[in-house]
Amino acid sequence: MENKILIIGGGPAGSSAGIFLKKNGFDVTIFEKCDEHRVKVCGEGLTPEACNMLEKIGVLEKIKEVSHEVSSITLFDLNAQPIFFNNKCYTLKRSVLDKILRDEFVNLGGSVLYKTPIKKINVFEGRVVLEDLKGQKYDGDVVILATGAENSLAKSLGFNSVQTYSMALMRGYIKNTIDCKSLDFYYHDSYFPNGGWVFPLPGGILNVGVGCDRDSYAIENVDKLMDKFLKLLRDKYGESLGELYSSEKWIINSGLNTSNIFSDRVLLCGENISSAYNFSGEGVAPSLKTGFYAASAIIDSNGDYSSVGFSSYKEKVEKGIGPTHKIYNTMYRMLTKKIGSKIVCWFLRHSKKAKKLVEGVINEEVPLKHGFISAIWYSRKL
Ligand SMILES: Cc1cc2nc3c(=O)[nH]c(=O)nc-3n(C[C@H](O)[C@H](O)[C@H](O)COP(=O)(O)OP(=O)(O)OC[C@H]3O[C@@H](n4cnc5c(N)ncnc54)[C@H](O)[C@@H]3O)c2cc1C
Repeated sequence: MENKILIIGGGPAGSSAGIFLKKNGFDVTIFEKCDEHRVKVCGEGLTPEACNMLEKIGVLEKIKEVSHEVSSITLFDLNAQPIFFNNKCYTLKRSVLDKILRDEFVNLGGSVLYKTPIKKINVFEGRVVLEDLKGQKYDGDVVILATGAENSLAKSLGFNSVQTYSMALMRGYIKNTIDCKSLDFYYHDSYFPNGGWVFPLPGGILNVGVGCDRDSYAIENVDKLMDKFLKLLRDKYGESLGELYSSEKWIINSGLNTSNIFSDRVLLCGENISSAYNFSGEGVAPSLKTGFYAASAIIDSNGDYSSVGFSSYKEKVEKGIGPTHKIYNTMYRMLTKKIGSKIVCWFLRHSKKAKKLVEGVINEEVPLKHGFISAIWYSRKL
């Protein structure tokens, strides 16, 4: 058997890797432990960065047809005062987004095995063998681990630098009776330095959620943060805000780890390499990108599936999403200190240049190759 690629996980990272590999003639199977309607706990917001990747994948038009277009992002500062950003984003339920991506993979000739949780990976001299919960075995040449924040399989292969988790989050839904039209992010004195969001979804509902560093609230306690956030929203909207339903908690691995992300016949991508951004918690775009980089590393290896053959992978990830991570890490460090948060918000409120720069970063128009230096260079032109 040749060029048989096995991908564990049918989220954005796994589907993206599968789609690019299929486009390059590989025989690819995705193993997904849930069924085809899997609900991923998420804010369900798609930034311009995610949309650019979805366009590259070839599904953006399909996604636009079923999603809700949002023309701005609003940041509410510590005093609940709004700062508006002109960035076009989209929202749609993750069960729909993830299915569109997997269907695209299937349309290209890939196969998805649903309800197939992989429990063990064996890496041999010339092949890999996966074993599912029922004991069924699957042979291949390479395995891509795209299991999201659940990274016990990566740990079982000796990838000890994978995170436990960095952020704890909770989201639920409320009927959109408050005419919310933008992606609203709330920082507030009452739960500083954590954040909350309200995003309008298709079908007249709101995705309402909170997120924090795990040192602030562990995943078991994150509902306490949600209570504080709902109080803030009720104080603002009063009776017109409906009840929260279908709330669920989940975790994020963020901040990017590139120290140990591949070995012979194995590549890790998506949240297995902490691809989500600190501060915003945005993870769809970087997961799609790391799936693409993993596929490119396999294509570039010309059949040398050893760690030497995959050596371009680390550079692709670091060059591709490393600079954006640096910007988000800096923003995170500043905004999680009261003085830093006040300075940043003051600039965003009073300097058109600062606001345009943030809009440019979100729209992927600002060259970030050299991090802040290239961003500042770009801002001279604004
Ligand atoms: C509350 C919350 C809000 C968020 N809001 C946003 C947002 O608004 N915008 C945004 O861009 N990002 C957001 N994120 C982050 C985003 O959801 C993730 O970063 C993104 O889904 C990661 O993609 P992935 O493909 O790496 O992993 P996942 O999407 O988690 O996909 C992993 C897949 O692997 C499967 N799997 C796991 N283990 C196995 C196994 N052993 N065998 C077979 N299959 C397996 C899972 O069932 C799953 O389908 C949010 C996250 C949370 C928790």
